[in-house]
Amino acid sequence: MKTKNSEIKNNQVLLFEEMNWKQIEAQDKDKTVLFLPISPLEEHGPHLPVGTDLITARDATREAIKILQQKKPDLSFILLPAVPLGYSKITSDFPGTISVDVKTIKNIVCSIGSSLGRHGFKYLLICTYHMDLGHLKGIYAGMKKTTDTYGMNIYEPSGPYYFNKEVEKREPKLGFDTTKEVHGCFRKLPDLPASTKRMMKTMFWL
Ligand SMILES: [Zn+2]
Repeated sequence: MKTKNSEIKNNQVLLFEEMNWKQIEAQDKDKTVLFLPISPLEEHGPHLPVGTDLITARDATREAIKILQQKKPDLSFILLPAVPLGYSKITSDFPGTISVDVKTIKNIVCSIGSSLGRHGFKYLLICTYHMDLGHLKGIYAGMKKTTDTYGMNIYEPSGPYYFNKEVEKREPKLGFDTTKEVHGCFRKLPDLPASTKRMMKTMFWL
């Protein structure tokens, strides 16, 4: 297992779950950014799978890491396994939606963030494609608790972008035009679907 991005062959993405604790310990914590995709399984119309948000968040993050590895070879980027949970009460009448409460989301973010922070990691990016305000509330509460306790730098870039008044004026269809948003979601990579590209743009400014 290589630990420096400059040494990673074929621009592969480091998967946290495939590393052992020695490799994780050996990471330069000042130069390592971890990515945590987290989005619920929920109804997305009759034409799309319940994992639409989750798969988009995960795949967009993976593709963004590949670009970041080229642009920032001095840094390390590690992808954590995608957490298939979120608060999505609004679609909970549909079979297939699994909604957990806001406090659970807070605790998940806090548990993962604090476990990493306890072992010296400093930078964590939460990657979600689910813009439910309750879901974001849970994420932000978890981020705050972890930052306050461990001094971790945790960011969630999509929410502030989606709910930005200036962006709304500039891109009125952003966010909740679901047919447009998710239609192309499952076209095969490397032909990145528009939604994934937009996700990357909004999340990582790539
Ligand atoms: Zn959603």
